[in-house]
Amino acid sequence: MALAALEELSSKLHRAQMLGSVADLLSWDEQVNLPPDSADQRAAQMAVLAETQHTAACDPRIGELVDQLATQQEALSADQQTVVRWARRDYERKTKLPPAYVREKAEQDSRGYHAWAQARAASDFPQYAPVLAKNLELVRREATYLGFGDKAYDYMIDRHDPGMTAAIVEALFTELRGELVPLVRAISQSPVKPRTDRLRGFPVEKQAAFLREVTASLGFDYRRGRLDVSLHPFCSGTGADVRMTTRFDADNPLDSLFSSIHETGHGLYEQGLPRDQHHTALGQAIGMGVHESQSRLWENQVARSRGFWRFFEPKFRAMFAEQLAGISSEELYLAINAVEPTLIRVDADEVTYNLHIILRFELEKKLFAGTLAVEDLPKAWNAACEELLGLRPRSDREGVLQDVHWSGGAFGYFPSYCIGNMMAAQLWYHVLGLRPDLEEDFARGDFSWLLNWLRQAIHAQGKRHDTLELVKRVTGEPLSPKHLIRYLKERYGSLYLA
Ligand code: ZN
Repeated sequence: MALAALEELSSKLHRAQMLGSVADLLSWDEQVNLPPDSADQRAAQMAVLAETQHTAACDPRIGELVDQLATQQEALSADQQTVVRWARRDYERKTKLPPAYVREKAEQDSRGYHAWAQARAASDFPQYAPVLAKNLELVRREATYLGFGDKAYDYMIDRHDPGMTAAIVEALFTELRGELVPLVRAISQSPVKPRTDRLRGFPVEKQAAFLREVTASLGFDYRRGRLDVSLHPFCSGTGADVRMTTRFDADNPLDSLFSSIHETGHGLYEQGLPRDQHHTALGQAIGMGVHESQSRLWENQVARSRGFWRFFEPKFRAMFAEQLAGISSEELYLAINAVEPTLIRVDADEVTYNLHIILRFELEKKLFAGTLAVEDLPKAWNAACEELLGLRPRSDREGVLQDVHWSGGAFGYFPSYCIGNMMAAQLWYHVLGLRPDLEEDFARGDFSWLLNWLRQAIHAQGKRHDTLELVKRVTGEPLSPKHLIRYLKERYGSLYLA
């Protein structure tokens, strides 16, 4: 009885997941290949597909099956219970929203994006403020529909990192902030200055060849994925077909290299999820924070390490002999680990990046608590920026208008980036405890031990455990910022403060 219901549920979920993967592919294609005048047709295709997806995901039969299975818990294994629990949660979140609300939200999202793009181009916050106020009102309503009452910000955080709340994030960020602000001050005042401006004229085709070699060495399976070029790098798709993108700048070779390694970390997680389970919770990523922990671990702890560069520097120099002539190994390593406060989050290094996130979290928290009015955001942003980073935006374009997220109502998304950084550092010290000579592996170009460990400890888990529980099970202790603080002090202290 339970088995038949489970099988029927599984086939319903499979259909919904296949439709989702088609939508992913169309969206990837839109960003990578779409001819300039084909946008309208693509929008029409996406609209039809979205409707079909919605119908499949909201099939009332799914509701009946999860209700039925919920009363037969004892007949289900732990894994089967996980599948049912998540199917029920996803179904409820999709069906509890009134259709009129869903329509209003979709229209507002598209309006929001255009309003943001215009306001940003004109650096004119007041014209954008009413849109933002409306976005806040909409997500508050959504939280009420879904049973979060007035805890709308908790709902927004939980959407990205299941189980996480604003209070948990606040406790983690407060501790991190206390250590990070003085560290960034000290590094800013250091006489040691990286010279990234000396890396010029790196031919794009050669960059592409180099980063393909690097990403394949890390373990990205090019038989089940691709790397292409888009305006903004991203990674989409799952399992058998993972699409990553990067962008190239002849005068900034480290940007495409590290953004590709970052996306590779996302891609390895997707490729490592249990293959025959992508349609259920057992074969899906648990959340944004854990996803970021994977991309950040490979990008930062691994690819900015000395061991990594002992292996790749000779290859890098062989390919770019002319461009790197006159740049010593130590200068190159410092450029790879450049720290310099900037106003723009996406340009930030891994030390100051966390302060950009803390700034956004603190403002979001106040917006949701009603202690900060939308029209006062630019002032609050600029003050926080000066306090945290020692820099003051000259315009709203460099300040509150720089990110796209809020224009689509994606509040509570930013904290995931920093949760990912904390988790990456915690995983890093844990694996070093298990394998103290890990960097010796890297120096031989061997990343397989680390990848295999992540495959089993993180990737194979799917959605069995929420972010916090996963961290605790894997590392033996609760998520804490102390590992990230230790890591940043060790790596950057030795370069800038020695
Ligand atoms: Zn990422």
